[in-house]
Amino acid sequence: MSKAAAFAAFDPTSPLAPFQLERREPGAHDVLIDILYCGVCHSDLHTVRGEWSGTIYPCVPGHEIVGRVSKIGAEVTGFAVGALAGVGCMVDSCRTCESCELGLEQYCDRGQVRYTYNSKDKLGPGPVTYGGYSSQIVVDEAFCLRISDKLPPAGAAPLLCAGITMWSPLKHWNAGPGKKVGVVGLGGLGHMAVKLSHAFGAHTVMFTSTPAKAEDARRLGADEVVITSDAAAMKAQAGKFDLILDTVSASHNLDTYTSMLRRDGTLTLVGIPEVPHPSPGVGKLLSRRRAIAGSQIGGIAETQEMLNFCAGHGIVSDVEIIPIQQINEAYARMARSDVKYRFVIDLASLTT
Ligand code: NAP
Ligand code: ZN
Ligand code: ZN
Repeated sequence: MSKAAAFAAFDPTSPLAPFQLERREPGAHDVLIDILYCGVCHSDLHTVRGEWSGTIYPCVPGHEIVGRVSKIGAEVTGFAVGALAGVGCMVDSCRTCESCELGLEQYCDRGQVRYTYNSKDKLGPGPVTYGGYSSQIVVDEAFCLRISDKLPPAGAAPLLCAGITMWSPLKHWNAGPGKKVGVVGLGGLGHMAVKLSHAFGAHTVMFTSTPAKAEDARRLGADEVVITSDAAAMKAQAGKFDLILDTVSASHNLDTYTSMLRRDGTLTLVGIPEVPHPSPGVGKLLSRRRAIAGSQIGGIAETQEMLNFCAGHGIVSDVEIIPIQQINEAYARMARSDVKYRFVIDLASLTT
C-alpha cells in the first residue's frame, strides 16, 4: 500500500479539504498512475453534495484522469512506465455478462460497474473507491486508456467523461451529414457535444440559457445558437431535429424539446438532476413516434476509439486549469453555469 494526497468532501455542505488515502500495491494486471490533471464534472458536485442518494464520506471525486504510468504489474502488456494513461468513470465491471462482452461495460447486466469513486472497493484498501482529486491511482489496465502524446494532457482529461458521454449517443443515434442535432446546455458535456457533432458533419444547434455564451458556441462549432428564453426562436425549431442531447443538470420541462423532434426523432437525456423532470406529455411523443432515451458514458473500447479520433482531429476540451485549492470556488461557479467550459485540476498543486 502507498499513501496518496487528496482532497475530499467530508459531508454534503462543508468545503472540500485535504485528505490522505491509501492506494493498493499494484497487482499483476494493475498500473500505478501519477495523476497530472483531473477534470471537474458536474457529477462530482452532485455526488459530494449528496444530491444523488448513496454518497459515502469522505468522498474523493474525480473521473477525468490523465497521468503518467509510474509502475506496472508483472502481467501488464498495454502500458509502459512513463506512458500517458487515462482513467474515466469506471475502474471495473463483471467483464463476463453480455453487455460487458460487447464492450458496453457501463451497462453491465449484473450491475457490477465499479465506478472510479464512491463505489464499494472489494480490492481495498479503502471501503470505497477514491477518484482523481488525488496524487496517484491504481487501476487494472483493462480499464485504463491510452492517451496520445499529440493531445495536451489537461485538455484531454475531460474527454474521459464529458467527451465519451457525448460521443456514445452521437454514434448510437448516427449523427452525421444530413442530420440535425440539438445540444441543450453549454457546460462541460455540452461543449464536447458541439465539437463532436460538428466534427461528424451534423447540422448542430446549441440551446443555451446564457446569452453571453452564444459567440463561444459558434466558435466551438454550432451552426445555430438559440437562447432558451427567446420564445419565438424556440418555437421556430419545432419538428426539426433527429436528435437532441439534453445535458442540463437541473430539472426542467421536457416537452419543450420533444416538440422540436421530427418524426422518429430522439431526445436523449444525459443530465442527472437531483429533482426528477416533470412527466413529459404523451401526446407530443405519440403524434410523431418520438422517443425519450437516456445514455450513460461509454464503454472502454469506445472510449479508446473516441480518444484516437480526438488525437487525429485535434479535438480537446476548452479548459480552465485550477490548483486544487480553488476547487470549492470552481464548484460555486459550476453551480451557476459559469464554466468555460471545463475546470481541470493541476495535481502538481497538491502537496503531500
Ligand atoms: P455543467 O458543466 O455544469 O453544464 C451544465 C449546463 O446546463 C450549464 O452550464 C448550463 O448551460 C445548463 N443549465 C441550464 N439550466 C441550468 C440550471 N438550472 N442549473 C444548472 N445548469 C443549467 O455540467 P456537466 O458536467 O456538463 O454535466 C451535466 C449533467 O450531466 C450533470 O447532471 C451531470 O451529472 C450529468 N452527467 C451525466 C453523464 C452520463 O453518463 N449520462 C456523464 C457526465 C455527467 P447554459 O448556461 O448553456 O444554459
Ligand atoms: Zn463525469
Ligand atoms: Zn457485466
